[in-house]
Amino acid sequence: MRTQVVIIGAGPAGLLLGQLLCRHGIDNIILERHTGAYVLGRVRAGVIEQVTIGLLDEAGVGARMHEDGLVHDGVQICVDGVRHRISFKELTGKTVMVYGQTEITKDLMDGRAALGAPTVYAAQDVALHDIFADRPRVTYRAGGEAHEIVCDFIAGCDGFHGVSRTSVPPDTLTTHERVYPLGWLGILCDTPPVSEELIYVRHRLGFALCSMRSPRRSRYYLQCSLAEDIEAWPDERFWQELRPRLDEEARHRLVTGPSIEKSIAPLRSFVAEPMRFGRLFLAGDAAHIVPPTGAKGLNLAASDVRYLSRALIEHYAEKSDAGLAHYSERALARVWKAERFSWWMTTTLHRLSDNPFDQKLQLAELDYLFRSKAAATVFAENYVGLPY
Ligand SMILES: Cc1cc2nc3c(=O)[nH]c(=O)nc-3n(C[C@H](O)[C@H](O)[C@H](O)COP(=O)(O)OP(=O)(O)OC[C@H]3O[C@@H](n4cnc5c(N)ncnc54)[C@H](O)[C@@H]3O)c2cc1C
Repeated sequence: MRTQVVIIGAGPAGLLLGQLLCRHGIDNIILERHTGAYVLGRVRAGVIEQVTIGLLDEAGVGARMHEDGLVHDGVQICVDGVRHRISFKELTGKTVMVYGQTEITKDLMDGRAALGAPTVYAAQDVALHDIFADRPRVTYRAGGEAHEIVCDFIAGCDGFHGVSRTSVPPDTLTTHERVYPLGWLGILCDTPPVSEELIYVRHRLGFALCSMRSPRRSRYYLQCSLAEDIEAWPDERFWQELRPRLDEEARHRLVTGPSIEKSIAPLRSFVAEPMRFGRLFLAGDAAHIVPPTGAKGLNLAASDVRYLSRALIEHYAEKSDAGLAHYSERALARVWKAERFSWWMTTTLHRLSDNPFDQKLQLAELDYLFRSKAAATVFAENYVGLPY
């Protein structure tokens, strides 16, 4: 087989890139390790920035998002039982939208199907070859048969555990990592959210987040140890641990119910540099991971795709490789700022140590955030997404 761009991975990065390329007449094939149903079943991110909204519109898949997505003008932060609000709208003129990653994935899959673009699900043993040559190749197995695709470029959109990043010569790659000694225990349930806006909770018992997917579906998280066994967390125990971390009003409004999903996600900061290796370009979680505290993972994947799609369109339409040459540098400049913000949110809101000095610093940091318009503006600018 022959195509212009092979995209490895049908997560948000791969599907969005495929959609944008198709709309500019650039042929692409997506290879995905799992089935479509498995990809759709993963409950992950929920808060999207305006730039991501804009890209989904550009990809022609934004209609349902505008109908069902919840526009949020601000966010609430509860510190030891006292709630504070930061208004994005007043400080930056911008907002964010709550719209689940599963819904975005569905919209992108439907959009791709409508264009008739090829996706190979359940592709096994995907391997990259000749990435520094003019005609790289990708091989894989599907339906019990071996296949080979010759292409111009490969987009490695296959997440942190994918094959793309590990296919590059180790001496060409530098990685930076911070693994936090905790995870997020999350549950999803069909109950009305406790608040119209997200509530980030800093409490001496540990971090919590009250989030939502719709006016009828809530998502709650608790800070937990990495050794935690999910089986040891029946729903009742989750609610018992959440309640005392909330302020009085939230406790009063909390509607509990049976969970429809429960999972533990480890918290990690990771960056691989550069993001280009010959004709292989990494995008999204394949190149970087942020702890979910700043809601940046999906948005960063989208911003990589913005740079990469424009660079590929420029290559084919204008015969210019300037965008491709600068892709890694441009994407990483944004990645590191999101890494900084996500690290700041994580270290400021979680109980990371028992050292009273660290806890006093957290409280001073938050007090400054609530009292200083400059500090609140810095927070709001980063939360709604920095400009390109
Ligand atoms: C449990 C969890 C919770 C999260 N919660 C949040 C959140 O609340 N907020 C937030 O902003 N972000 C969150 N994130 C991060 C966010 O979901 C990711 O940043 C986002 O999914 C990145 O998209 P991606 O397309 O780069 O990677 P992925 O979504 O990981 O997609 C990669 C795709 O590549 C496929 N793949 C992997 N290996 C291969 C291979 N060898 N061959 C072919 N295909 C392959 C995978 O099956 C997958 O479909 C969470 C992540 C996890 C894991």
